[in-house]
Amino acid sequence: MTKSASIPDSQSDTRYDVVIVGGGPVGLALALAMRGSGGRGRCVLLLDASLGSANDARILALSYGSRLILEKLGVWASLERVTPIAAIHVSQRGRFGRTRLAAEEMRLPALGYVSDYSSLQTAMRDALITSNPSQAAGQNFKHLTGVSVTACRLEKDFTTVEYAAGASGQESHVTASLVVFADGGATSNASIATVRDYHQSAVVAQVTTERPHRNVAYERFAADGPIALLPFGLRMALVWTTTPAHAAELMELDEPRFVQALGAHFGDRLGSFTAATHRASYPLRLRHVSPTAAGRQVLIGNAAQTLHPVAGQGFNLGLRDAWALAQELNADPAADAGSDKLLNAYRRQRDSDRRGGIVFTDALVRLFSNESALLGLVRGAGLSALDCLPAAKRFLMRRMIFGSA
Ligand SMILES: Cc1cc2nc3c(=O)[nH]c(=O)nc-3n(C[C@H](O)[C@H](O)[C@H](O)COP(=O)(O)OP(=O)(O)OC[C@H]3O[C@@H](n4cnc5c(N)ncnc54)[C@H](O)[C@@H]3O)c2cc1C
Repeated sequence: MTKSASIPDSQSDTRYDVVIVGGGPVGLALALAMRGSGGRGRCVLLLDASLGSANDARILALSYGSRLILEKLGVWASLERVTPIAAIHVSQRGRFGRTRLAAEEMRLPALGYVSDYSSLQTAMRDALITSNPSQAAGQNFKHLTGVSVTACRLEKDFTTVEYAAGASGQESHVTASLVVFADGGATSNASIATVRDYHQSAVVAQVTTERPHRNVAYERFAADGPIALLPFGLRMALVWTTTPAHAAELMELDEPRFVQALGAHFGDRLGSFTAATHRASYPLRLRHVSPTAAGRQVLIGNAAQTLHPVAGQGFNLGLRDAWALAQELNADPAADAGSDKLLNAYRRQRDSDRRGGIVFTDALVRLFSNESALLGLVRGAGLSALDCLPAAKRFLMRRMIFGSA
């Protein structure tokens, strides 16, 4: 049952096994994966501050591994405008060294797929309601939108979650054996977070190129930050990372000047850039928490780790968090959802993949975002060497596609 900004109406509504805070793609994935536990499922409440219509300009590169999870969640088939990535061309601006990663080297139909945040969120919301109506309408699952969680208190053997309805501000609370924060890091646990400001912002838009993309994605590193172009329908999705001041300038340019600036920066590999849709800008930082699971609380997705978008790892990692947590919770629906045993098992399972994602993206940003001539040579040699080492390339691709779980 999906309710909008409504409040539980009876005392029996206020005790849950699991309360999920945040209905972004990661929180929704957890709800969907738990629904998969069938009639024995746990009592779950999903609280989301946003309202029904998703409106986020982010375009997401989904790894082939994420496709496999989204298929199991019953979401993949209903995703619109999904564009396969057959190959990724990696280079550095103004310096030698390049490498090409291709799906055929992995014997896969694609290295990944490009979709947009809003379509993904909508497809997941629809799947929660429609793909299993008997369970969605049953007692086990409730979805409230337009409500913000304001506080969370650990009691002896449960947690109290307080929340307020958006428009009316009406306050209420529920209790849960386990609270899962999938709020993108908006509210949760500043005291256990490590933060590094990259002093970079990402400008995103969809752009039209003179030459067709042929399902090739481009990642080009520059001193101010990497620029990525992903095949998306007939257009390309642009993620241009640069200094915050330059990003602000790019946001102000009219369309002809913006595509001209993009051409000057990226080069003419795809011919000239002929059009761009509206732009949006995101400040970039690394934020990760430790521990991710303790005291009847778990943090997943961006709430646990917010990464630089280089290499498109953030959602893919968060989806694996959600999937792994659901497997722990579904294994024995009668067991206490917030027990230390369950939380420790989850943490052990996710630690290495998560650490790998954080270290990999952070190292890429730090290694490539500088003007050092010496490092430029080392990077160029590294990219060229990678191009000649099929085993090393396959290792890297496997890591990017499936994580290191
Ligand atoms: C420019 C850019 C490009 C990116 N490209 C890629 C890519 O190509 N591939 C990839 O894998 N990742 C990419 N990412 C990362 C990806 O967008 C995130 O990892 C992903 O969106 C995280 O999902 P989430 O559900 O954890 O958090 P979010 O998407 O932030 O969702 C959080 C949800 O929680 C809700 N919420 C917040 N506070 C509260 C509250 N107090 N109470 C209730 N609800 C609340 C919000 O309304 C929202 O619905 C990119 C990121 C950026 C910035």
